[in-house]
Amino acid sequence: MVGASGVHLHLEDGRQLIDGMSSWWAAIHGYNHPRLNAAAHTQLQTMAHVMFGGITHPAAVALGRLLVKMTPEGLDRIFLCDSGSVSVEVSLKMAIQYQHALGHTHKNQFLTFAKGYHGDTTGAMSVCDPVSGMHQLFAGFLPQHHFAEAPDLGYDRPLSEAAALALRQFFDQHAQTAAAFILEPIVQGAGGMRIYAPAYLKLVRQLCDEHGLLLIADEIATGFGRTGKLFAVEHAEIQPDILCVGKALSGGYLTLAATICTDAVAQTICQGEAGVLMHGPTFMGNPLACAIAAESLRLLEEEPWQERVLGIEATLKIALLPLLDHPRVQDVRILGAIGVIETTTSVKVAEAQAFLVAQGVWVRPFRNLLYIMPPYIMTKAELLQLCGALSAVLEQSDCFEV
Ligand code: PMP
Repeated sequence: MVGASGVHLHLEDGRQLIDGMSSWWAAIHGYNHPRLNAAAHTQLQTMAHVMFGGITHPAAVALGRLLVKMTPEGLDRIFLCDSGSVSVEVSLKMAIQYQHALGHTHKNQFLTFAKGYHGDTTGAMSVCDPVSGMHQLFAGFLPQHHFAEAPDLGYDRPLSEAAALALRQFFDQHAQTAAAFILEPIVQGAGGMRIYAPAYLKLVRQLCDEHGLLLIADEIATGFGRTGKLFAVEHAEIQPDILCVGKALSGGYLTLAATICTDAVAQTICQGEAGVLMHGPTFMGNPLACAIAAESLRLLEEEPWQERVLGIEATLKIALLPLLDHPRVQDVRILGAIGVIETTTSVKVAEAQAFLVAQGVWVRPFRNLLYIMPPYIMTKAELLQLCGALSAVLEQSDCFEV
């Protein structure tokens, strides 16, 4: 790739591909956006970076105000950090410091769902699905946590009595030594592109309250409109104690993330032994990233993001749901600007990508998943071309394992 603009990636040989990936959920406004470019230029001429310990600056303040306004009620305290994985590490440390400040020094573990994904650093990896996260590779090194059965698939599928009972028993068994439950609300991403019912979130929220656990919502992938709500927890009308955001936060321009918590969590940590949250990365609150992120959030506020995302959802349903009848298709899942085709056998990634590039689109399948999460600005015609390429690749037997 030698360039990118709007929804297109520009190849060295002059071809342009329609981007189905938003560079892994991040480039929601498309590439080379004049407003984001201008925000970067302006900030660059003022101050590219300054340390964020004992110093604050206008770009961070502006971003902070926007985040407090846009995120669910009660999430008012923000820790800025470098990447999604780091924001998860920070959320785990927040939960531990919170519990210890309350005198619960035995609470050092985490509860989570199987088939989740929370990042590639050690703490984050330890709460990823043990199988797809290949915990056996790092056995003896990773901290041990507790995994509840993954939620059943289906946004509209009612939470079964058996699943609810299993979750209650899981809490009864493991909550005693746990500081928090961490989950990806509504969509489990890299662990399998699994979409599940809001009722699970409601129940986990209730059980966390009953057992004195914090609830950490990892919205690094789902945040900022991707699921049709600004934040996926809104599907269940619940409020987490800690929220992780990243990816689309900077409109896909620079690496930036945030861990946002309630005042109660922040105040409790400050009354603890350390007196502050024990984390302070060098590039925390980087002004250039903050300025672009603030402009990206203003763009989101000003533009009809929800109309666009729901428009994408409607087109995805028309274009992809008929593929449910295809012999190579196991399942089709759609929510907001996310479209997933689960195939009956694994995709041969190199072969499938070569075919898709020849069709003029960029998609990055993994395992038996062909999935897209396009920039919100994609037109219906472009989206139909993208979906057409996905339908066409299903006909290519050399692109799939037997
Ligand atoms: N959590 C979730 C839900 C993610 O999708 C990702 C990134 N795929 C991460 C955490 C880690 O973010 P990063 O790659 O920025 O470290």
